Amino acid sequence: MRFQHGLLAAIGLTAALTSSPALAAEQAAINKGEVNVYSYRQPFLIQPMFDAFTRKSGVKVNVVFAKKGLVERLEQEGRNSPADLIFTVDIGRLSDAQNAGVTQSVSTPILTGVIPQSLRQSDGHWYGLTQRARILYVSKDRVPLDDAPKSYEELADPNWKGRICTRSGSHVYQVALTAAMIAHHGEARAKDWLSGLKANLARKPQGNDRAQVKAIKEGECDISLGNNYYFGLMLQNEEQFAWAQSVYPVFPTLAGNGTHVNISGMAMTKASPNKENAVKLMEFLTSNLAQQMYAEQNFEYPIAEGVPQSGLLRSMGKLKPDTLELDKVAENRPMAIKLINEVGYND
Ligand code: FE
Repeated sequence: MRFQHGLLAAIGLTAALTSSPALAAEQAAINKGEVNVYSYRQPFLIQPMFDAFTRKSGVKVNVVFAKKGLVERLEQEGRNSPADLIFTVDIGRLSDAQNAGVTQSVSTPILTGVIPQSLRQSDGHWYGLTQRARILYVSKDRVPLDDAPKSYEELADPNWKGRICTRSGSHVYQVALTAAMIAHHGEARAKDWLSGLKANLARKPQGNDRAQVKAIKEGECDISLGNNYYFGLMLQNEEQFAWAQSVYPVFPTLAGNGTHVNISGMAMTKASPNKENAVKLMEFLTSNLAQQMYAEQNFEYPIAEGVPQSGLLRSMGKLKPDTLELDKVAENRPMAIKLINEVGYND
């Protein structure tokens, strides 16, 4: 038990099950009417839906929240793992779980019927639940709306020299965008784009998506890349409200298609001991009620058709997502990482 606690601490669990985590998890696994979740997503985002599921189905949801180490934990637990489902964001993290061999294929008419093909793994190893668009934040003061870039490709145009801020090129959000660029344009053009974008940076890549908007507010740069939900999160934050007020959101095109999107999603673990209940929960999360709750909680877009978007999202403009399969984005991630290094994006 002492070892288990040490291990849990070592892999960065932020909150665990009551008293002895390992024992509680084991009991949970053998109890009927339960489903066990490992989640990188924060409690406030997913707990309300799990509670709604329990009220509807009577099935209890036990959740272990962590910031990192869940895939490693699943690998260590192997066949004895109590976990049924894993929740995380980004195609990079979902495909990492699949590549580590800790997920299994699952497919039901509801899952494949509701979740668009581009937002799920073709064999059912992971499914998107919400979409987030990677958009431009553009200075209200220094870039007239008509002059703002309309595409990601334009960010490499020399007339933006010294005017763009981004986070590290190696962050999963930037890797996915670069991988999508490769999928659409091929390796050579994607590399040129990355070099052009790097040449336009106002400063060495640093900070998170919100820090780039802060830099626009402070006059360091005029355009940044960031996920759409940070607009809402900044508006809700007393200090960051002014950052959000200094920019307007732009939904750029990629290769003449829609805006690059990524997902938050779920995967069934390979060892899932409560598979039937896990499928019930997965399907519940595609229902209109859960879709609306989940998306609104973090200013993300529902993936189910016909589910209303939050008022803020509607006020930001219309999202037309790039329909490139995220499977293809995942495939191109290793190449994207290689190109980001080759152009010295982070130097
Ligand atoms: Fe984020």
